[in-house]
Amino acid sequence: MLIAANKAVSIDYTLTNDAGEVIDSSAGGAPLVYLQGAGNIIPGLEKALEGQAVGAELKVCVEPEDAYGEYAAELVSTLSRSMFEGVDELEVGMQFHASAPDGQMQIVTIRDLDGDDVTVDGNHPLAGQRLTFDVKIVAIRDASEEEIAHGHVHGEGGHHH
Ligand SMILES: [Zn+2]
Repeated sequence: MLIAANKAVSIDYTLTNDAGEVIDSSAGGAPLVYLQGAGNIIPGLEKALEGQAVGAELKVCVEPEDAYGEYAAELVSTLSRSMFEGVDELEVGMQFHASAPDGQMQIVTIRDLDGDDVTVDGNHPLAGQRLTFDVKIVAIRDASEEEIAHGHVHGEGGHHH
């Protein structure tokens, strides 16, 4: 069986940036299980895995436009401290969930604090970065109709609901 749309795929992976720092890894834990063709993983990685078989080991280099997007300066804005009512102490690097104008949830990170001004950055923490994935394909199975309808994998490593 090869990886194609509507297959549930288990992978072991290590994600590093251009500086060689490990950003994320399944090492020491369970493999990542995702539904191919459903946008569960970044587009560049999904594309590279299409057609691969169990046991294959790949090094996949993904440019920002096929990962978390280019860094967008317009997503940086300055807010008043009063917007953060209920937060005891604001610190640079803190992250908050916020809803974007299009209704999508996004993570904003505090970049700077200056008096009443709080500079926040709505870029994904990995925006603008080229990412390298070392991937080993552990398992491939047909997804169930329910999983396909939901757009994600159920059971071990997947959604429980
Ligand atoms: Zn579901």
